[in-house]
Amino acid sequence: MSLRSDAYIDGQWRGGAKRFAVLNPATQEQIAEVPDLGAAEAEEAIAAAHRAFPAWAAKSAKERAAVMRAWYDLMMADIDRLAALISREGGKPVAEAKGEAAYGASFMEWFGEEAKRAYGRTIPTTTATRRYVTIKQPIGVCAAITPWNFPMAMITRKAAPAIAAGNTIVLKPPSQTPLTALALAELGERAGLPAGVFNVVTTHDHTSAIGKAFCESPLVRKFSFTGSTEVGKKLGAACVGSTVKRVSLELGGNAPLIVFADADLDLAVRGTIASKFRNAGQTCVCANRILVEDAIYDAFSKKLAEAVAKLKVGRGDEPGVEIGPLIDGKAIEKVERMVAEALAAGAVALTGGKKHDAGAQFYAPTVLANVTREMRVNREEIFGPVAPLIRFKSEDEAVSIANDTPFGLASYFFTRDVNRAWRVAERIESGMVSINDGIFSNEVIPFGGWKESGLGREGGVEGLEEYLETKFVNFGGFV
Ligand code: NAP
Repeated sequence: MSLRSDAYIDGQWRGGAKRFAVLNPATQEQIAEVPDLGAAEAEEAIAAAHRAFPAWAAKSAKERAAVMRAWYDLMMADIDRLAALISREGGKPVAEAKGEAAYGASFMEWFGEEAKRAYGRTIPTTTATRRYVTIKQPIGVCAAITPWNFPMAMITRKAAPAIAAGNTIVLKPPSQTPLTALALAELGERAGLPAGVFNVVTTHDHTSAIGKAFCESPLVRKFSFTGSTEVGKKLGAACVGSTVKRVSLELGGNAPLIVFADADLDLAVRGTIASKFRNAGQTCVCANRILVEDAIYDAFSKKLAEAVAKLKVGRGDEPGVEIGPLIDGKAIEKVERMVAEALAAGAVALTGGKKHDAGAQFYAPTVLANVTREMRVNREEIFGPVAPLIRFKSEDEAVSIANDTPFGLASYFFTRDVNRAWRVAERIESGMVSINDGIFSNEVIPFGGWKESGLGREGGVEGLEEYLETKFVNFGGFV
């Protein structure tokens, strides 16, 4: 795999008159310059995907699976280079980036296999002269927009089910991390993807114009977005308002992590760190607020703060680094502002609470005690390495705080009581609940949110359904 810096449309590598710089967030050094394309190139890519669709859809699932498998094998063979690239443009530690590359590749393998099982149904008839069946068919041209926090996996979680099911796709990657998307295109080309099946349109200044083209094009039959709730709402409305296309939205979260007094505290500390500090707190499923039962609040806070103070901060390619930089200057400012507000309102920093001296975009891993429900660190997604601790006195209170948010993506809790485990899992309003474990994402589970965290699921059998139409067929006049 080489470092690709041109866009990829209709099987061709495409430059552009204007280019924009992709920076390493740890050092602000330039890695490459990528074409700043616009709506015209997006339309061109959509037309190419439209031309490629009939032949790709006509292949058997087994033939498509062979290409998916080859794509997966190439990704795994190049996993170290992919990890280095993800780390360089996105900032996460190389070991974590390698985890993302394997996670990203796993969707190619899983959906290639799973698309062979896109079964319809036979429905017992209501009338002697009729027979009823359903069949599953690809939708057509799909368009996708993805965020920078998982430069690879957020793409493959959409592209793999789309392509395996017989659709074609046009992707607009994030402006901060387009290089991993282009590496993926190179590996897809080598795996034998026909021209037009997977297209990557890079941009910096024309994001909204490309989004508009995706949402309003009558040739695009399905739109899938991962990113902020604010942008997702607008694009979802534009899709439905213009062409009533199918829409999937993977949006923001505000995950609660509840530590009950009966929990194994060491396990809870490890789980909290795994969930909260992954990618320096910049994932949609990061624990955003830690609810701790009164009886163990002091003991848990102390253990957590001691462990967090030992996390190694630095550039993603330094050995042993656990916390990398935040993605850009705006992200650092937002975290600084939210922490300052919490401290002014009575929170106490048990560790961290300020920027880190590793560089301009580094924030020290932080634990805040005495946080209240009113503070912004409880109400909004922090997207940084800051763990706010909120005290609660009863299970009812914990569930009420956990559900008191418009979001409902992930939630976590720690308990040794099996009755409570069922009870709380059922009462929490979120698409995913993880008990006694801070990490849960993989290719076989249905990933997605309730409430304003989104529409639809990615991964698992549910993730394939998002890229299939169900057609009902009536065989009448049967004698
Ligand atoms: P964002 O601002 O919404 O950006 C995400 C993507 O949308 C980028 O590709 C961005 O392009 C594009 N975009 C922004 N404005 C647009 C517009 N008006 N029209 C068309 N496209 C537009 O989100 P972010 O802050 O980068 O990403 C973090 C958010 O994503 C968090 O809220 C996080 O929780 C969420 N997220 C959710 C999931 C999930 O599965 N639920 C997973 C990961 C992240 P540019 O880069 O060109 O601006």
